[in-house]
Amino acid sequence: TTYVVKCGWIDSGDIRGVLVSFHDVSDLEAAGQMRRDFVANVSHELRTPLTALMGFIETLRGPAKNDPAAQDRFLGIMQAEAERMERLVKDLLSLSRVEAQERVRPAEEVDLAALARSVLHGLDPVARETDVTLTAEIPPEANIVPGDEDQLRQLISNLVENAIKYGGAGGVVTLSLAASPRDAALRAPAVVLSVRDKGQGIDPIHIPRLTERFYRVDSHRSRQVGGTGLGLAIVKHIVSRHRGRLRVESVPGQGSTFTVTLPAAA
Ligand code: ADP
Repeated sequence: TTYVVKCGWIDSGDIRGVLVSFHDVSDLEAAGQMRRDFVANVSHELRTPLTALMGFIETLRGPAKNDPAAQDRFLGIMQAEAERMERLVKDLLSLSRVEAQERVRPAEEVDLAALARSVLHGLDPVARETDVTLTAEIPPEANIVPGDEDQLRQLISNLVENAIKYGGAGGVVTLSLAASPRDAALRAPAVVLSVRDKGQGIDPIHIPRLTERFYRVDSHRSRQVGGTGLGLAIVKHIVSRHRGRLRVESVPGQGSTFTVTLPAAA
């Protein structure tokens, strides 16, 4: 615990003495430390592709000046690095937007069933690229939640994209949706959405930290599949803004299930 201690003299006629006050600033200190860590992380994440870009520019202007084959190869790598920076900036903006709105109650009525179908449809080409099959267990009726459609789209999309990325090529990713008339955790009617994969799974020691910004189980793998380390941090804030719950279950070697429970519309 960190205290700020202030001392002063009191001399007002009847009362004379010394006043000492203790002010607990541990939370402020922790917040300051978190902000510094975040800035350091962002700088590091941006510098890595930037250093690569600068290195290749130098090579293109020097040793590879008259080598069209090498130029072509390097430009390909440079494009990938620039795309990586673009994803990072996009995720940082999303994260700061959802954090800023966290206290604002979402006002729209969103049909999660229709939204989930639409997200799966949009990600089908991405899944095909890695030979992953997307399957849906979504009942035909609407499942309405009070929400922010763009954010809920991003939430579902981040979970399905992760399942595709870490679920292993040739695997199956299943999105299921069900209405729960009285959810035990929320103590209210809820809609339960879960995304299941049959990938490598996650060791239980990592699960509590997955939603921290830039936390990755395997940085190399995350980078290889185009991860930014911010996807689940964004998910956490969206769930929290919607007064919902996020649960992660995983069996190493067998796969993972990410379940989001959101209060249903009255
Ligand atoms: P990233 O951009 O690295 O994917 P996320 O915040 O989305 O960042 O996820 C954090 C980490 O959690 C990932 O780097 C990965 O190690 C792990 N992870 C997320 N989803 C899954 C999954 N479905 N299966 C296995 N590991 C996962």
